Amino acid sequence: MKRANRFIGIIAILAVTMGLTGCKDQPSGSFTQTTPGLFGPIEVSVELNKGTIENISVVSHLETPGVGGYALEVIPDRIIEAQSTDVDVVSGASISSRALIAAVSSCLETAGMKVKKSNTRKVIPDDIDKTTEVVIIGGGGAGLAAAVAATEAGSRVIIIEKTGFLGGNAIVSGGIFNCPDPALQDIADIKAHSLDSLIENALSETPVNPLHKEVMDTVREQFNAYKKTDKHVFDSPEWFALQTWNGGDKVGDLDMLLVYADNAFSTLEWLKDLGMTFTDKINSASGSLYMRTHTSTEPHGTGYIAAFRDNLAGKSDLIDIMTDTEGKSLIVEDGRVTGVNAQGKSGNKVTLHATKAVILATGGFAGNVEMRMKYAQSDKWPDLSAKVISTNMQGVSGDGIRMAQEVGANLINMNQIQLLPYANPWTGGTGDITLTYSGSIYINKNGERFVREDGRRDEMSLGIIAQPEGIMYQLFSADAVPDPTKGKTLGGMPPSYYIDNKLSGYVSAPTVAGLAEILKMNPSTLQKTIDDFNSYVEGTEVDPFGRITFTKKLLTGPWYAYPRKPAAHHTMGGVDIDASARALRVDGSVIDGLYCAGEVTGNLHGANRLGGNAIVDFCVFGRIAGMNAAGE
Ligand code: ADP
Repeated sequence: MKRANRFIGIIAILAVTMGLTGCKDQPSGSFTQTTPGLFGPIEVSVELNKGTIENISVVSHLETPGVGGYALEVIPDRIIEAQSTDVDVVSGASISSRALIAAVSSCLETAGMKVKKSNTRKVIPDDIDKTTEVVIIGGGGAGLAAAVAATEAGSRVIIIEKTGFLGGNAIVSGGIFNCPDPALQDIADIKAHSLDSLIENALSETPVNPLHKEVMDTVREQFNAYKKTDKHVFDSPEWFALQTWNGGDKVGDLDMLLVYADNAFSTLEWLKDLGMTFTDKINSASGSLYMRTHTSTEPHGTGYIAAFRDNLAGKSDLIDIMTDTEGKSLIVEDGRVTGVNAQGKSGNKVTLHATKAVILATGGFAGNVEMRMKYAQSDKWPDLSAKVISTNMQGVSGDGIRMAQEVGANLINMNQIQLLPYANPWTGGTGDITLTYSGSIYINKNGERFVREDGRRDEMSLGIIAQPEGIMYQLFSADAVPDPTKGKTLGGMPPSYYIDNKLSGYVSAPTVAGLAEILKMNPSTLQKTIDDFNSYVEGTEVDPFGRITFTKKLLTGPWYAYPRKPAAHHTMGGVDIDASARALRVDGSVIDGLYCAGEVTGNLHGANRLGGNAIVDFCVFGRIAGMNAAGE
């Protein structure tokens, strides 16, 4: 009798800790369920042992590494700890969080378990008031780069991040970093001197101001010396700066671009020292306009964020990272920015005082429809309304622009917005892009090329918008991706995953005619498009669209294609800063105590940001802001 009572007592305790009701049988076994996530199916397996959730594993998913992928890493532990699916989602990755929770709930239901509310008591945190040396608002690329630099200089730092994870738009970026790198450019996969016309064109312009002339003269001298060599690619910091300035229609600040380009290579080395890894080949990323792109070995921008995070993890005495904390306004005392008013997840007040400086690193506003309609509705884009998808993360919504403006900062180039030509037409995601570099072409629904694939992002986006249904297909063949199970997408999965599971509109066929049939195109039109392209690669004909970067002909099947559409991506305008990353007022004076870095600033990119230039921006100026803030 005594024994029986004890047994009942154990069942009662289990029922409470499991969060179960009405569970007569305590099921054991493995249960699997698939639910739709943000970018594709999420398959989850739950192991039950006598009604206890012992293990939850995510078998496969296409969520973005570090974002939805982060939610899929942390939510299982939360569920196991609470023995309930009534757990907090990761803010900023709520769709992926909820998809996982739904899959687990469904497994539990299949097992005959009814889940009740978690017994975990929700504690409302107290208001927080802290003082440190440097406060950074935003835990994306610029904020983390600044934190690494400020702590390297010995300063105590608090980072506040609005969402539940670090990385911002940087973590979902293409992970590409442009900068002159002679050792790799000398062995680049391109014929020597094949890019010379780009430099010659830039040097044939009439200078528009003395600095332009000075930079052109320097580049001319360097280029004349290069012409006597058989090196594959000409480059220098001055040419990088000049090309970036020209590529943004000379709207950016050439002086600032020289600072940017001068510091790019040393920042690449700094990143490598932090553990960031790049492939050993230089490429010309789409929209970069030149063979100077370094590609991360990790999916998207996860490598950069991991390198920063790991570095900061080793400095716990200096760094305090507060996620789920949203900066609301800057504190100004006697004309100097001295802190931040923020808010914690449950609405608690967070007041942070900075004895040295505050760094704004809150990113851009391409995902904020209201702001982009207000500021960026330039003549360039036919539509920037909510109908236009965005690549941006939920938490990046232009908050820093407002906060800076409230303390008198000058905003510049606010009408300049970039649409990324090659987003997923349904989600705006980019993780499904197959990395083929120059081994692909863009075709419209009629099977015709319509734009140079190595041109400016704005020209490509406008080109796509003008095509039937406003979309294009990226087409490649076995020449660029011999084995789709070994090839790579930006998100890290092999292209075969998309093809086999019919995701993201991927299609494939053994022949050009077969592909044309699936895409409802005229097969002879598509074949002619490919044949014409091959004659441009060979050099027997000149591409009428002006493409000059070629590596491979398109000859061998299987043939692959998937649809792409332009998405609001990057805002080139923002807070006006000086070369030390200090925020400036309209009259050019410095706002004491306030630094800004990354996409929240507006000086560099002008009318069109080159592909592969944004990471350089947040790394170089994040670093400058961090070092200078620490030196206050
Ligand atoms: P950048 O490349 O310029 O660093 P990112 O988009 O990578 O830009 O990062 C910006 C980060 O700032 C994101 O993680 C975003 O969630 C965060 N953020 C935006 N607004 C706020 C805010 N008001 N308070 C705290 N963090 C914010």
